[in-house]
Amino acid sequence: MQKYDVIIIGAGLGGLSTALILAINGYKVCVLEKNNQIGGTLQTFNRKGCCFDTGLHYLGSLDKGQILYKFFQYFNILDKIEIRKMNETGFDVINIAGKEYKYGMGYANFEKNLIEYFPNETVAIKKYIEKIQNVSNSFDMYNMRYPVVFDFDSVSALSENLQEYLESITDNKDLQNVLAGINVLYAQSPEDTSVYMHALIYNYYINSAYRVVGGGQKIADAFEKEIVSKGGVVLTNKEINKFNFDDEKILSVEATNGETFFADKFISNLHPTVTINLAGADKFRKAYTNRITSLENGISNFSLHIKLKEKIFPVTLSNYHFYKENSVWGVVNYNEKTWPKSYLLYTPEPQQKEQFTDCISIFAYMKFSEVQQWANTKVEKRGNDYKEWKKTKAEKLLSLVEEQFTMIKGNVEIYYTSTPLTYKDYIGTTDGSMYGILRDSRNPTKSQIMPKTKIPNLLLTGQNINLHGSLGVLISSVVTCGEILGTNELVKQFNEITKEK
Ligand SMILES: Cc1cc2nc3c(=O)[nH]c(=O)nc-3n(C[C@H](O)[C@H](O)[C@H](O)COP(=O)(O)OP(=O)(O)OC[C@H]3O[C@@H](n4cnc5c(N)ncnc54)[C@H](O)[C@@H]3O)c2cc1C
Repeated sequence: MQKYDVIIIGAGLGGLSTALILAINGYKVCVLEKNNQIGGTLQTFNRKGCCFDTGLHYLGSLDKGQILYKFFQYFNILDKIEIRKMNETGFDVINIAGKEYKYGMGYANFEKNLIEYFPNETVAIKKYIEKIQNVSNSFDMYNMRYPVVFDFDSVSALSENLQEYLESITDNKDLQNVLAGINVLYAQSPEDTSVYMHALIYNYYINSAYRVVGGGQKIADAFEKEIVSKGGVVLTNKEINKFNFDDEKILSVEATNGETFFADKFISNLHPTVTINLAGADKFRKAYTNRITSLENGISNFSLHIKLKEKIFPVTLSNYHFYKENSVWGVVNYNEKTWPKSYLLYTPEPQQKEQFTDCISIFAYMKFSEVQQWANTKVEKRGNDYKEWKKTKAEKLLSLVEEQFTMIKGNVEIYYTSTPLTYKDYIGTTDGSMYGILRDSRNPTKSQIMPKTKIPNLLLTGQNINLHGSLGVLISSVVTCGEILGTNELVKQFNEITKEK
């Protein structure tokens, strides 16, 4: 019987980075992943020469000295992945009811583009930029600044509503829309989106935006290599379905194949509700369980991955965000008639730099309720009505895309789809939500989840702690490991390892 110092359940970015931090600090770690592929929503899949992402498709703040660069430096994975800088004059292109706007990379380009589009709004644009920079700068953890001194409750940006803020700096509806134009990155409604979440995510990408050649999977693979080189273990096809207790503490976890894994401490990278169900609700305070299980998750999505007959689609190193109506808000609230109100389109980064590609990925919001009737079916065994439904949705999305990108028409060789059910089953959540628990600006503390639980040797990590997205999840890992190593000691170590030589 092998006993580890720490077992991490789930090999998403959260589980892998938590494991690596602990391995760097001498802990014998073991990561247990239910799928045969690690990465969670970093996973990619290959079809007909295309490498499609299931989730993560771009990274921010990767210029030398910026925060993600430092994280990758700390994890020693910079030389294990190949990255390409996105289009500096327009890394995110936003089409709102037929009018295109480009987000420039770096604050100077970002401001320049906006002022060109809205010459009479210079004051508002400068105010906005100052605001998101100030909010981003005010969080020590976001900047991995030592020593860490912050008090979540006292930060007003958490409860400041984004839409209200944008309305307070300008009456220009078009500018408000453009500033909220990549809200697919948090997929929330105007009523609940905070300035805090918006600022942290926007600042991350405006600083610099990159794609990973070969997709997010390469990041997961790089993490695995480093964990293993530090004596850790990453095991796939280990779906954990039972926690065994010795009094209050977890003694071991059991996989569906009957294997048992022992450790002193356990960290769950799963959705907190799933963790509670696995451990047993009776192991937590009733109020805690009620609060966590009553929290709403964000919307899921429908993805359409296309292989074209020929390489005719330009590789632009930009994301294309399309909004059918003259509003970027409310796209998560659609009905059967109005779907899809928006989509995100991009081309996965090819191995060799090419001008044209035959691989395209498209994502559109989708509620879990649309697939509820098949919720209890298994992958590949969902029946013909599900197949038909998927086809109808794919064709509807495709026709909207073809209105904008006419060269696709008649050129689709084959397409692959994934639905909220695909995400639910592959990632092991209850409803395939993209980013997990919704963060409500009206009540920010309600959705705040700490890594510590009532079970003395169980911690939580991943996108539901802190914030979703690549940076949010890495910060969650620091917060989680801080419970074992001490947050300030860890941030200090991070700064020592990443300081400019
Ligand atoms: C469509 C989409 C696009 C995105 N685009 C971007 C982007 O461009 N940039 C960005 O920064 N972020 C993006 N994100 C967000 C980012 O991918 C996530 O926030 C992040 O990867 C979540 O990591 P995680 O470790 O918290 O969770 P997950 O990736 O969900 O990992 C959880 C892991 O646990 C495993 N697991 C579940 N149950 C069990 C079990 N019982 N036993 C063992 N293992 C189990 C799962 O299989 C999975 O591997 C995107 C997300 C989506 C869905």
